[in-house]
Amino acid sequence: ASGRVYNFSAGPAALPESVLLEVKEELPIYRNLGTSVLEISHRSPEYAAIDASAKTLLRKLLGLGEEWHVLFLQGGASLQFHQVPLNFLPKDGSADYLITGSWAKKAYKEAKFLGNARVAASSEDRNFSYIPDPSTWEVDPRAAYLHFTSNNTIYGTQFQTEPEVEVPLVCDASSDFLSRRITPERYGLIYAGAQKNVGPAGVTVVLIREDFLQRRNQPLPTMLDYGTHVGKIFNTPPVFAVYLVEKVLRWLEGLGGLPAMEAINNRKAQLLYERIDRSDFYRGTAEPGSRSKMNVTFRLPSEELEQRFVEEAKQAGLIGLKGHRSVGGLRASIYNACPIEAVEALISFMDYFEQRYG
Ligand code: PMP
Repeated sequence: ASGRVYNFSAGPAALPESVLLEVKEELPIYRNLGTSVLEISHRSPEYAAIDASAKTLLRKLLGLGEEWHVLFLQGGASLQFHQVPLNFLPKDGSADYLITGSWAKKAYKEAKFLGNARVAASSEDRNFSYIPDPSTWEVDPRAAYLHFTSNNTIYGTQFQTEPEVEVPLVCDASSDFLSRRITPERYGLIYAGAQKNVGPAGVTVVLIREDFLQRRNQPLPTMLDYGTHVGKIFNTPPVFAVYLVEKVLRWLEGLGGLPAMEAINNRKAQLLYERIDRSDFYRGTAEPGSRSKMNVTFRLPSEELEQRFVEEAKQAGLIGLKGHRSVGGLRASIYNACPIEAVEALISFMDYFEQRYG
């Protein structure tokens, strides 16, 4: 639609325009209901079909077998920081955490609050600018799980490969979910807030493998027991968010699924990092071997220039480029729904800005 800008927000983030137009079209009257999808029971056949379709699409896109449960929960990834150890950190055992950024630290803090959580590795010594090499990790083979953050939204780093350890992986995939293929067998649980790569804020996707689920602590408060939500809709889900997620998943499948998406994401990141590396004016903050393909973080020679960059970019129709408030600098979030044209427009703007102020 005319008037839409190129959006590099870290989350909530850009959604496919085709999805928004579809929603606009069918919002007042959904199918033959004579009412919107927001105004009907979550037990209706129409909503049940949306829920089932979204779950089927997720299974298909990720190649999840029958042993996987797909849940649509609330409370954001932040509630998962607590819910994961509440369910899976045994009273007489421990869990390991890879500390690669602020979100990982928050997850670790919640686990420590509940029991014995250990740091298997950390990159805080160099301001989270890298992913620690697996050879330096100290993973306890008796740990109930190893928790890691596949993509560090604030620091612009990402695991280049999936950890390969003896214990089940638990992954906070909030900022790179469905951006590339994964190896489901290695995981016990994967969670992601929807508002970056899969839809709007309001729903958290949780994938749990059946054998891992069976290891959970008992008893648990009903709403926080993953088992409560397996195989059924227990309470009113965030229907509008799930409805949008279903459309985003169909859009993703239409593009060719994860292999196609991964290729596009690789290309976008490659173009942007090449531009950053082309001169000293722009300086990437993540170590090259740990760079994120989702959140590209960089600095300019001064904070004043950074502020100017954000303002002038906005004038040029490029929004959401300010770095996280805790670290400053600039950040271009180039999630699935960010088209390659947006990255090209950003690169042209970077060329112009350097010529003018460099
Ligand atoms: N984990 C990661 C990697 C994130 O990027 C974020 C949000 N920026 C969160 C967790 C927290 O998510 P929420 O706000 O949905 O609780």
